[in-house]
Amino acid sequence: MRDVLASVDQPLRLVFGADRPVYISTSSATGFMEAAIRNLSRRRTLCLVGGAFGARFHAIAERCGVPADRLDVDWGDPHTPNLLRDALNEAPGRYDLVTVVHSETSTGVLNPVPQLSEVVAGFEDVLLAVDGVTSVGGTKIEFEAWGVDFLLTGSQKALALPPGLAFAVASERALARARSIPSRSFYFDLVEFDRRAREFSTTNTPAVSLFYALQCQLERMFAEGLEERFARHERMARRTAGWTAELAASTGASFDVLAPEGYRSPTVTAVSLPEGVSGTAIVAGLAEKGITIAPGYGKLKEAVIRIGHMGDHTEAELEVVLESTTAVVEATMHSTVANVASDGGAE
Ligand SMILES: *Cc1c(COP(=O)(O)O)cnc(C)c1O
Repeated sequence: MRDVLASVDQPLRLVFGADRPVYISTSSATGFMEAAIRNLSRRRTLCLVGGAFGARFHAIAERCGVPADRLDVDWGDPHTPNLLRDALNEAPGRYDLVTVVHSETSTGVLNPVPQLSEVVAGFEDVLLAVDGVTSVGGTKIEFEAWGVDFLLTGSQKALALPPGLAFAVASERALARARSIPSRSFYFDLVEFDRRAREFSTTNTPAVSLFYALQCQLERMFAEGLEERFARHERMARRTAGWTAELAASTGASFDVLAPEGYRSPTVTAVSLPEGVSGTAIVAGLAEKGITIAPGYGKLKEAVIRIGHMGDHTEAELEVVLESTTAVVEATMHSTVANVASDGGAE
C-alpha cells in the first residue's frame, strides 16, 4: 500500500499544481467539502452560491453548526471578483473562510478562482476553500500560484475513476487554522490527513481496490499528457457551444449556453432550452438511444440539459451525443408543435 501511495504522490501533485502532498480520503468528494467547513472556520463562512454545489457548502455549514452566510448570484452567472470584494468589505472581520465551486457542475459556470483568490488575499485571516470536483484533472490547476488554501475533488468526475475516493490539498495556513479548532471532525481531520500523507499512509482503512484504479488512471492520464487532456476538454466545450448555436439557428428557437462567454467550464456545458422544450424529455429520448446526458439540477431541472465532456470522453463520442441530441430535440419540438396544432389548431 505504501508503494502504491508513493507512486501516485508526484502525479497527483502535478494534477493539482501543488508542491504539497495530496490527501486521499475513502469517501466521496462531499466528505472533503465537510472537512473544509469543519477544519477551516472559527468565526463565520461566506459561501458563494451560484448553483447546487455552491449551495451544498452552505447546507453542510448549517448541518455542522458552523455559522455561514450565502452570497447568491443567479444560477448560470459567475461570481466576479468585485462582487466578492464588496461582500468582504461590507463586514470587515466577519468572515474567516470563503467557499467557492470552481466548475459549478449544475450550471456549467467556471468561476474565476485565481482572481477570487487575489481578492481574498487582500483580507487578513480569510481562507479560500475551492470545490474542484469537475475542474481538477479536467483543466489546468495551479494550487500554489493561485494562492488557494484548500482544494478538493472526487474520483468519479473529471478524473474518470470509479466513485469512492476524494482528493484534497491544504495550504500551511489552512493546517494552522485546523490545528486551532479542537472539534474539527475525526474522520475528516486535515491535520491527521497531512501527517499520514507525508508517511505514504492513510488515516483509516483505505478502499484499496480504488487506489489501484487511481494508479492505473494516472498512468493513462500522463500517457495522454495533461496539457493534451486539458486541450481535448477545451475543444469539446467549444464544439458543444458551437453545436448549441447551430441548433438555435436550425430550429429558430432560443437554445443557448447558460454560462456567459469567458466563464464556461471546459468539462460540462449546460444548454438552456426554449420555453416549452422539456429537459427531462430530451434526456429520456436520448436514454432510449443508449446515451446518457443529464437534465438540469434542482430548480433548472426542466430548463436546461447538461452535456458532460470530461474525463476520458473523446471528440468522436461527443459527435455521436450531439447528433443524437439534435434528432431528439427536433422530434420533441415537432411533437410539441403537433400538440399545439391539435389543441388549438382549429382557428
Ligand atoms: C458531484 C459534485 C460534488 C459531490 O460529489 P460526491 O462525490 O457525490 O460527494 C461536489 N461538487 C461538485 C462541483 C460536483 O460536481
